[in-house]
Amino acid sequence: MANLITWWRDFVDLVFPRCCEACSRGLVGNEATICTRCRIALPRIEKNSLYAELIRYQFVHIPAVSSTQSFLLFTKRGKVQKLLHAMKYKGNQEVGLVLGRMFGQELVAENRLPEAALIISVPLHQRKLKQRGYNQSDLLAEGLSQATGIPWSGSVLTRKKYTETQTGKSKKERHDNVQGVFEAQRQDGYESVIILDDVLTTGATLCACIEALKDAGYKQFHVLTIAMAEH
Ligand SMILES: [Zn+2]
Repeated sequence: MANLITWWRDFVDLVFPRCCEACSRGLVGNEATICTRCRIALPRIEKNSLYAELIRYQFVHIPAVSSTQSFLLFTKRGKVQKLLHAMKYKGNQEVGLVLGRMFGQELVAENRLPEAALIISVPLHQRKLKQRGYNQSDLLAEGLSQATGIPWSGSVLTRKKYTETQTGKSKKERHDNVQGVFEAQRQDGYESVIILDDVLTTGATLCACIEALKDAGYKQFHVLTIAMAEH
């Protein structure tokens, strides 16, 4: 039976070749969405590296943020950019789930998973959600949750206002653009939560989310992002 399944999969691969979303090479055997070579070679942000320090520095003014970690380094025209593009603009939702799972598996394997009761994803405005059909942060949160066993919620935070894209804005403009944009549901008993987003640039969006969560009674935050943009 196993042989038949393998044969059938190889046959389907031959007729409808599946490609790696990061390098566009054909996938083989059990590979799905991202090939084995890319899974190994995607540029990680190592613990205690300069990049890890830079991430920490962006939240240093918020004492309630007790840890920060980003998974991959985003470089222009690099594989990480290609993956995030497939997830955000080409409708490939599987990429989000896979990246979330990979991040979670590595956090667990390396003993770096923060102690948290809940994973909270950064919401899209309803208008954008309708356009795209899904929120990429929810996909990442679902994948992270599958790998870590920590539950996730996409409804704790809501976006009150539609904001223009943050792309091309200065740090100050980004900060002003998202001020007061988020609202959080009040929760008691959640001492420590993970707030998860796709790409960290200036941290303005995440800081605005954390402010809203603090107002709603959340106490301690672990910031996780799938990628960090190279400065
Ligand atoms: Zn690949």
